[in-house]
Amino acid sequence: MVYDKLVILDLSGTLIHKYDYNRNATKPKSTLIYNKEFYQLIHLKNGRKITPCYGLVDFIESLMSKYRVAIWSSTTDYNTNPIIKSIFPKHIIERFLFIWHREFTELDPDYGKEGYEHIQKYDTIKPIDNIKASPIINYSRKWDRHNMIIIDDSPDKLRFNPPENNIVVPTYMLSEFDEKQTVIDLEYLNYLEELIDDRFELLTQN
Ligand SMILES: [Mg+2]
Repeated sequence: MVYDKLVILDLSGTLIHKYDYNRNATKPKSTLIYNKEFYQLIHLKNGRKITPCYGLVDFIESLMSKYRVAIWSSTTDYNTNPIIKSIFPKHIIERFLFIWHREFTELDPDYGKEGYEHIQKYDTIKPIDNIKASPIINYSRKWDRHNMIIIDDSPDKLRFNPPENNIVVPTYMLSEFDEKQTVIDLEYLNYLEELIDDRFELLTQN
């Protein structure tokens, strides 16, 4: 049934391009948004710059016509909120089932262990069981491993989840602001939506 399935989306590297800190950054005065022909370059108050994937709002609207949609970013609340407000219109923001940030993640438990030297001190994980266990999000005990899909460009953040609940995407990188890139972006989002549809079919069969 419609809305009985939940898609949880990462932001940075999945739906938005995040520029390297301070590289080519001008000193930010405020949250400044200026439009090029096809892309938005958004300056956040913390000095970071981001650009959302082309066609992002249409993609989310299409997902929302079929599923419940939520955002789970591992950046802090301080950073997540301005990003959300910059890239999504109000009617979309209101329809997210939840917008989770760093506080809802967990520190990667393998930090410092032998064989996990690539795990940094600040690295986090996103266990979908945290959604299942949330008395706020899951007060009706509706959400479980049979109806949730989480999407992220960091496989390490998802590695403690059942693989069938995870969709790992290549990190979204923007090199140009041109029309050619918009075609690449639309193909990416269409492909991602197909992956989600197919995966839900698989999950509900089990
Ligand atoms: Mg990411």
